[in-house]
Amino acid sequence: MSPRYRQLLEDLRRQFPQPVSDPVHDAYFVFTILRALDQVDALKSQMPMLGAPREPDYAEAVAARLAPEGRSLEATVPQLVAQLQGMFLWGHPQSQVNVITHPSIAGIIGVLLASTYNPNLCSDESGRGFSEAEVKASSMASALVGYDPARSGGVFTFGGTGCLLYGMKIGLEKAVPGAMRRGVREPVVVLASEHCHYAVLNAAGWLGIGQESVVRVSTHLDNSLKIDALAAAARQALGEGKRIAAIVATMGSTDAFGIDDLRAVRTLRDNLVREFELDYTPHIHADAVIGWAWSVFNDYDFTANLLGFRGRTVRALALAHNRLQHLRLADSIGIDFHKTGYAPYISSLFLVREAADFGTIARDRDSMPYLYQSGTHHPGMYTLETSRSGTGPMAALATMLMLGREGFQTLLGHIVEMAEVLREGLEAHPDLTVLNGDNVGPVTLFRVYPPGVDTFTVKDRERSDPSFQTKVEEYNRLNRRVFERVNAEALAGGGVVISMTDCYRHTDHGIPIAALKSYVLSPFTEEDRMRSIIDHVLAARDEVLGRDYD
Ligand SMILES: *Cc1c(COP(=O)(O)O)cnc(C)c1O
Repeated sequence: MSPRYRQLLEDLRRQFPQPVSDPVHDAYFVFTILRALDQVDALKSQMPMLGAPREPDYAEAVAARLAPEGRSLEATVPQLVAQLQGMFLWGHPQSQVNVITHPSIAGIIGVLLASTYNPNLCSDESGRGFSEAEVKASSMASALVGYDPARSGGVFTFGGTGCLLYGMKIGLEKAVPGAMRRGVREPVVVLASEHCHYAVLNAAGWLGIGQESVVRVSTHLDNSLKIDALAAAARQALGEGKRIAAIVATMGSTDAFGIDDLRAVRTLRDNLVREFELDYTPHIHADAVIGWAWSVFNDYDFTANLLGFRGRTVRALALAHNRLQHLRLADSIGIDFHKTGYAPYISSLFLVREAADFGTIARDRDSMPYLYQSGTHHPGMYTLETSRSGTGPMAALATMLMLGREGFQTLLGHIVEMAEVLREGLEAHPDLTVLNGDNVGPVTLFRVYPPGVDTFTVKDRERSDPSFQTKVEEYNRLNRRVFERVNAEALAGGGVVISMTDCYRHTDHGIPIAALKSYVLSPFTEEDRMRSIIDHVLAARDEVLGRDYD
């Protein structure tokens, strides 16, 4: 051992948490975190962003190389903090960008503990108490959505996308037993709404089902799928001898918070099994990555309304509850704690009503000789992943422990209340319309028009009047310009950062309808901020129309 080697090793050992108790070193560890947070704090202003606005510099980024020599922890941290320059603050009251959450402290500490002690949830050999945490979080969520935790099973995975992949894979194995070994050799379909997340297509592609085998069913104006259309699509597929790998119910769509009628989907599925004498039961996966959290209102007394939400809010919560209370009718459910559960990414739970369903995707012990030599709980025998982090379950457990039902009710009630304040203001103004007025979540899609447009009829004309389709495109351009202006102003310190969707839905003639989008998730949002959005949007419209509109 050269003196250099010895010296380096000594120095490097100080860069790790100490394996045996060393309170002085713990203080160094914590203090280093504190100093990192201090450096981040220096980037904070009143703006909804850390530091100054900037675009990522990829030209510089590709020049990055591993240096010949290392550097101290103190010298490393500032370089990491520099990556936060220009980062959006999702929790800022002026930020209403998308369904990206502001993680709670409990959630962050859950991640920190799991990162520090690094369990592998592949098996409880290496997961220990963290494996227990995964079962706890799964059971809490299972009971919450109305499953029986004694029968259900859950694994945390890589996002709502992973949940869809699991749900569709189990469904595929039920419809085509042995597909895991032999591949998909029979024609299969997946049925979903036209407003399902594109992850459904992605999963179909990755599973070998094929994106073209996803039948996307038309929707009502409330963005929920038409049960008649689903029935027709299912009967056609079955009539042609195809098998149904899965029916995906979207329980809170990404752009509009559309919620499918899961109870009707379930009744239809059960009827199809009898009608076609199917030798399998088509699997229903509820893509509830956004909507699951509303289950906390399953026991809320909307009449007594003990939290004192205003009338519009109670109505919105009760309407969402009306559909989401049926989640237990699905065979599997995708839950994102990193969306409406205030947990950091990635914290997604795939739940199956019958844990035995995992048997359809389990592998033989023989094929994994080095794993599962001890312990009793081995999710790695059926998970797609081999190594799995403990951060997701710990973050989920943390937020559920900390918030309880009432905490969730308060946070969700608040964001819906803020969305309702905005809607009330939008509805009261002649030049503005709410597009997803029949949806009742924290997201509001709206459009601004030139003065004098009759907004009572414009929505219908845009959707169905063939002579109005060029106007739709013109108004799409107007709304995009308004969006750019509003956000430029917000990043310069005034107003609220909102978002935009290029296609809220298509007109009957196939033209996409663009929309401005306010997605409220921050606990820090206040009423006056919501109302100010309207002033900023109208001012931006006047600017655009007055100056540089073509
Ligand atoms: C976000 C979203 C997904 C994808 O989930 P990730 O966690 O981003 O992988 C799937 N479905 C819906 C409805 C979503 O909103």
